[in-house]
Amino acid sequence: MTIVVPFCGRITPRERQESLNAINAVLNNIRVLPFEDLTDGERRTARMAVVANPDPTNLLDLPMLEWVQSLWAGVDRLVDELSASSLKIVRMTDPQLAQTMAEAVLAWTLYIHRDMPAYHRQQREKHWEQLPLVSPQDRPVGILGMGNLGRVAAQRLKNNGFPVTGWSRSPWTKADIPMKYGPHGLEAILRNSSIVVVLLPLTPQTRGLLDDWRFGQMRKGAALLNFARGPIVDHAALIRALDRDHLGHAVLDVFEHEPLSEQDPLWGHPKVTVLPHITAPTQIGTATALAARNIQNFFDQGQIPRAVNRELGY
Ligand code: NAP
Repeated sequence: MTIVVPFCGRITPRERQESLNAINAVLNNIRVLPFEDLTDGERRTARMAVVANPDPTNLLDLPMLEWVQSLWAGVDRLVDELSASSLKIVRMTDPQLAQTMAEAVLAWTLYIHRDMPAYHRQQREKHWEQLPLVSPQDRPVGILGMGNLGRVAAQRLKNNGFPVTGWSRSPWTKADIPMKYGPHGLEAILRNSSIVVVLLPLTPQTRGLLDDWRFGQMRKGAALLNFARGPIVDHAALIRALDRDHLGHAVLDVFEHEPLSEQDPLWGHPKVTVLPHITAPTQIGTATALAARNIQNFFDQGQIPRAVNRELGY
C-alpha cells in the first residue's frame, strides 16, 4: 500500500511541482501530494508532512502529525506560528546550501574589501582617485552564527586570507576558527572586525540584537552583511550609524517584510546595497534528495531527524 504524505507550502506553482516531482522520483511506496489533493481519510492519518512556508491552519488539520520536514533552512516563522503545538520541526540542513551561502559571503566580503561601493560612487561623480590597497590579512571578519552556514562561510573566507572570528551560543570545541561567546565575546568581535557577517537564526534572543549600542561598538568605517533574517538588525539604528559615518556600508539580503516596500529608505540609501533575499536559495535538487531520505527513513525505520529546539527557537 502506498503511504500518502501531504505537501503544505505557499510557494510558486512551478517550485511546488518541481519539488514534488523530485521527491516522488526517489521515494519507494510513498507519495507526496499537495495538501489540497488529500482525501479526508488521508488527512486524518498523515504522520508527517513536507512544508515550505506552509499555511499553519493546514497543519492543524492533520491530527496525527508527528513532524514536518521543511524545505527551507530558516524556520523562525513556522516556530512562531506553531508555538502552541508540540509538532517536531525538521529544517533543511543541506551542505550544498552552505556552499552557496559561503560563495555569497565571499563575494560580498570582496565587494567591501576591494572598495567597490566607493569606486561605484566615484564613477558616478566622474572622480578619479586610487584608494589605498588593504591586504585580506588586514581585514578581520567576524561571523555572528557559526552553524551549518557560518562554519562553511568562515572556512571559505579563511582560505581567501581573511582573519575570521566566529560567535556562537555554545562552545565549539573542535573549532579551527577562533571563537567568542556571550555578550563580551560579541563586543570583542564588533570592536575588532572590519566586516561583520550575520548568519544567526531569528529567535527572541537575536531579534534586534544589532541596535544603536552594538553599532556604537563596531569599528569606524566597518561594514555589515546581513544574510540571515531582517529583524536581527534594527534598520533605523543602522541608518543612523551609516549617516553619522560611523559605519561604512551595509549589504542587506533579508528584511522583516519582503518584498521590501517601495517607500523604505533603505532602497535609496547611498551606503546600503539591497538584495532580494538571494544569497542562498533552497536548491531543489539537493534539498529534495535530503528530504526524501529523511521521509523514507521515517517510514522504513521510524527515525525522526534532529528537530528544532522549540525552547531555543532554532
Ligand atoms: P544553525 O545551523 O542553526 O546555526 C545557527 C548559529 O547561530 C549557531 O552557531 C548558534 O550557536 C548561533 N546562535 C543562535 N542563537 C544564538 C545566540 N543567542 N547567541 C549566539 N549565537 C547564537 O543555522 P544555519 O543553518 O547556519 O542558518 C542560519 C540562518 O541563516 C537561518 O536561521 C536562516 O534564517 C538564514 N538563512 C538565510 C538564507 C538566505 O538566503 N538569506 C538562506 C538560508 C538560511 P550554537 O552553535 O551554539 O547553537
